[in-house]
Amino acid sequence: MALRFFSIAIVVMALASSFANASDPNPLQDFCVAIDDPHHVLFVNGRFCKNPDDVNADDFLFRGLNKPGNTSNPLGSKVTAVNVNNFPGLNTLGISIARIDFAPYGLNPPHTHPRATEVLVVLEGTLYVGFVLSNPPPGMKNKLFAKILHPGDVYIFPQGLIHFQLNVGKSNAVAFASLSSQNPGVITIANAVFGSDPPISLDVLTKAFQVDDKVIKYLQSRFWYDNN
Ligand code: MN
Repeated sequence: MALRFFSIAIVVMALASSFANASDPNPLQDFCVAIDDPHHVLFVNGRFCKNPDDVNADDFLFRGLNKPGNTSNPLGSKVTAVNVNNFPGLNTLGISIARIDFAPYGLNPPHTHPRATEVLVVLEGTLYVGFVLSNPPPGMKNKLFAKILHPGDVYIFPQGLIHFQLNVGKSNAVAFASLSSQNPGVITIANAVFGSDPPISLDVLTKAFQVDDKVIKYLQSRFWYDNN
């Protein structure tokens, strides 16, 4: 009897875990083009839906990702993000896209997407990419997975993990990324930790990074460029 109850409990737990969402909730209708005017509309998944009778083919079209982003900046990279904020047709669909341009030796610095896994495909150039696992068991270090990518190569950055891409070639590089959220979000690690407004207390950062306050003050005085 106890064994039978145990078996049922296992099945129930397995079913429950299969309902967990790994990305945005599944859409409950064909589409829900986002609209800013809440007049005479429904509220779904955080954004208002345009009246389906007023939706047309243009709501599902975004043009311009053929244009390179401007990489004349301290990082030598530029992310051109296309998500629900500039492409309302993505609302409720759990997906978005970005173009990433790199000057020679340009870097898309360590960052995470709190709400999305990223699939990156390289179109031009050579990228050194990687991601770091979350905190390991005691005594172990955070593991790094890294690769050199060439045109046609695809790499995955699991949701929430810190990742980066560096152009190690002598020419420009171009990559496109799909993300499993209409609004993936981005946390650039250095900017968030050393460039916050107001700054994080020296007491916190000196202890966290195990350095003296001169080092932290220097880092906080730097200009943390946002390439997004
Ligand atoms: Mn990313």
